[in-house]
Amino acid sequence: MEKLFQQSIYDLERFYSFSEAELKLLESADKAAEECANSEFEHYISREVNPEIPKIAKKYALSGIPIAKEYGGHGASMITAVLTNQRLGHTGLGLATFYDVNTFICALSLQRWGSEEQKDRYLSHSLKDGSVFAFALTEPEAGSDPSSMSTTYSKSVRSYILSGTKYLITNGSIADYIIVFAKDSSDEKNITAFIVDTKSAGFKVQMHLSEKIGLFTSDTAMLEFNEVEVPEENVLGNVGKGMHVAYSALLNGRLGIASGCIGIIEGSLNAVISRAKERVQHGKQIGKHQLIQRHIAEIRQNLEMAKWPTYFAALRKSQYDKDFGNKALVEEIDLRTALAKKIASRLAFESADRAVQVFGGFGYSLLSPVGQLFCDSRVTRIYEGTDEIMELKIASRLLGNGFEAFR
Ligand SMILES: Cc1cc2nc3c(=O)[nH]c(=O)nc-3n(C[C@H](O)[C@H](O)[C@H](O)COP(=O)(O)OP(=O)(O)OC[C@H]3O[C@@H](n4cnc5c(N)ncnc54)[C@H](O)[C@@H]3O)c2cc1C
Repeated sequence: MEKLFQQSIYDLERFYSFSEAELKLLESADKAAEECANSEFEHYISREVNPEIPKIAKKYALSGIPIAKEYGGHGASMITAVLTNQRLGHTGLGLATFYDVNTFICALSLQRWGSEEQKDRYLSHSLKDGSVFAFALTEPEAGSDPSSMSTTYSKSVRSYILSGTKYLITNGSIADYIIVFAKDSSDEKNITAFIVDTKSAGFKVQMHLSEKIGLFTSDTAMLEFNEVEVPEENVLGNVGKGMHVAYSALLNGRLGIASGCIGIIEGSLNAVISRAKERVQHGKQIGKHQLIQRHIAEIRQNLEMAKWPTYFAALRKSQYDKDFGNKALVEEIDLRTALAKKIASRLAFESADRAVQVFGGFGYSLLSPVGQLFCDSRVTRIYEGTDEIMELKIASRLLGNGFEAFR
């Protein structure tokens, strides 16, 4: 098993007792990451979505890791899912972002909010057949403020009619099902979440977004919903309470992002240690120059600083998942997941930047092992809540009621 990953498991074992089955899942995640690395490299260079990603996720049954056994999952802990995504992030965020959206955000939302019929039809089946999910909240004019969305729904006899455009949607062109958020056309305070089958008439992938500055192997799309008819039994959660679904999905999603970021930091550390021993300048290995040693020490510190807030948030999140009614706990999880995401994403970007520096000119190339880490790390400070939104959340949780910067 990869050395730093193994070390993280040992470190955690002092505080958490992994079951045999969980340790096997982590071995499997290690193999999945290894298998994905080659195809990721090839597709990254040609700036293409990597079609192997959903196949590898299915082959190694990654999606079912944190899902209860009764729905066809492995019933493993949140910390096991976090470690899995950490390992997937070692070479870049293609598979880790897929896993974050498909599992942390969508599968866990179906488990939390779905009716028994929805769980059977969408969750259990997807774990068997590898169907892909996407989560469509953002629109061209509504990002950090999703309440300003303009996608609408109106009630028909036994269905809802959805119209609007969703933007920057991960897995958007490869998804079989999308959790879509829309506003009641007759009362814009009511936002509802729907499970939309992408085979529905009126659904179209308007554009595949390929002009990104990183994350090339992850599918990102603009989606059009033109009077898409959604059966009423496909409402996820309660009508008018879609933002509860969105916010709870993002609590899991932010743990997914933070763990992918730890992976980026570990990937950066692995790469700089090898390079520092191989590359010779001024008559000695660059690892013998003290300023290069500083980069290595800083990345190692970043790893320590990113890991523990994320692990602690994941352990507390597992407590909350057994006690959804606990208001104090949800407030704590909201704070801890925001802290984990904010800290880990900034440190991932900084670590990948240091890694590029250690590699010098070769580091600026996508052919180096650190080019993808650097390009992919940037988005983690934007998606699923920007740095600024995380800061506002952290500050308002500390200041208390009445200090929210926005509602
Ligand atoms: C590669 C990628 C994949 C994505 N995948 C998905 C997905 O699967 N599903 C989905 O729904 N969305 C997805 N997103 C969208 C992402 O979540 C949004 O980009 C993000 O929430 C920010 O919204 P915005 O881009 O509209 O920026 P804006 O909201 O326009 O923000 C612009 C700037 O203003 C700041 N800002 C905004 N409001 C405030 C405030 N009140 N106080 C201080 N500063 C503020 C922001 O922090 C930012 O710096 C993805 C984005 C990317 C880049």
